[in-house]
Amino acid sequence: MSSEVDPLLPRNQPAPEISGYGYSKPNDFINVNYESTPPSYRNDNGQEENEENDGTESVTSNRSALSTICSIFTFGVLFAFIASIALPLGGNGGNRQPSPEPVPGRPSSTINERVDKILNGTPLIDGHNDLAIFLRFGYKNQIHTSKFRDKFEKGGMEMHVDLPRLRKGKVGGALWSAFVPCPANASYDFSDSVYGQSVSTTLSQIDLIRRIQTYYPKIFIPATSSPTDALYLFHQNHSLVSPISIEGLHQIPQTSPFTTLRLYHSLGVRAATLTWNCHNAFADAALIPSNDTGLTVPAPPYRNGLTAAGRQVIKEMNRLGILVDLSHTSYWTQKAVLSNNTSLAPVIFSHSSAFTICPHPRNVHDDILDLVKATNSIVMINFASAFISCSPPPNSSVLPDFYPRNNTLHQIARHVVYVGEKIGYDHVGFGSDFDGTLLTPEGMDGVDKFPDLVAELLRMGVTDEDVAKVVGGNILRVWQAAEDVSARMHEDGVLELEDEVPDWKVD
Ligand SMILES: [Zn+2]
Repeated sequence: MSSEVDPLLPRNQPAPEISGYGYSKPNDFINVNYESTPPSYRNDNGQEENEENDGTESVTSNRSALSTICSIFTFGVLFAFIASIALPLGGNGGNRQPSPEPVPGRPSSTINERVDKILNGTPLIDGHNDLAIFLRFGYKNQIHTSKFRDKFEKGGMEMHVDLPRLRKGKVGGALWSAFVPCPANASYDFSDSVYGQSVSTTLSQIDLIRRIQTYYPKIFIPATSSPTDALYLFHQNHSLVSPISIEGLHQIPQTSPFTTLRLYHSLGVRAATLTWNCHNAFADAALIPSNDTGLTVPAPPYRNGLTAAGRQVIKEMNRLGILVDLSHTSYWTQKAVLSNNTSLAPVIFSHSSAFTICPHPRNVHDDILDLVKATNSIVMINFASAFISCSPPPNSSVLPDFYPRNNTLHQIARHVVYVGEKIGYDHVGFGSDFDGTLLTPEGMDGVDKFPDLVAELLRMGVTDEDVAKVVGGNILRVWQAAEDVSARMHEDGVLELEDEVPDWKVD
């Protein structure tokens, strides 16, 4: 079926929507019923917002701005003409002060100077960094060996992250993912016997991230820091804002989800993706392993998104101040979370790109973007090649093909600009997936390349102010909003949810 995505365009040519021809309509090849009007969301002031945004509003406001400028110009010309008749030469009876010399124009800043200013003023916070799972696979979590330290400290780590590259990339922080894969059969058997190993491995990964933070205290800000404290320390020392995230609720057991979440929070977990590539007891995933081949495939609709237990877990996450992360979840999970105040705090997509540009089930549909805006949430664009550059699949049951020609840094910027222009630059950020993906775009093969991406956004006409929001201002705002919701719930006396403990059985 036809699509308005751009893979057929010459490499790196701006797509029509970027050139100002209007945005692509929502892609319709996935056979789901879109609601014509997104559900309303009650904001903090108790006002109902209806955020249907089809682009006409900005066109109208641009037109009215243009007509205002024309009116001012016409009025100015008329005024100058009348003044030249009414006043004698020299005006003001000859007492006019001599005009000051024109102030010499300050040479406009170069792109590099603007990049430096932005990254010095606002921490660049990456929504998803997989250093920890790479260290598990590549270094067995052994961080006190010369093998690890030489490369981590002096450069040359095999994937995308080490200290010299973090410094060169002027990185200001990341959500460090304590990811562990889904256990076998996780999508259909939610028992603790299946999930137990995931929980113990998660503890090991959280501990690894905390040990790195402790061993390099001048470089990493402790994961348990508040957003305010973390921002202060960034400005003091240029150290890295470093909350921990988990990636899928297969990392909490079905029988004691609240206990486990609370303990994770106490260790510095500040965001939790509701699923990875498996369904779990709480939410449906976008992708699951195929029963036949074991390969990851698009998940058919399963339980309409969230389970009752999933709604309870979100409530406890809100109470704790753990960000709800919708990357990896199904379309219907996203719809359920973003509607009807299911989450009291704004949410994040920590590493997902725009579906209209690359129609991959991991990416965010246009009507979901409207809900992201309505809930003051944020989509952090994933850099992984498969998610930024693809051609449409023949139907929604198979994954799209990777399209190599657009596998570039510019293509990442296109995703950022697409989301920014559609729902506003308050709702987009970066979520690199570095160290969690093998294939990276040309020009974006490590954390040292972030300034190049920032420069590309400036070259594409994004303002310095908007770029500062994209690199870190937005995730800080959303994180603080989640903390505020948590504080309000505590003030209101909302008690922690308690796990159901079965009767004690002694054999
Ligand atoms: Zn992921």
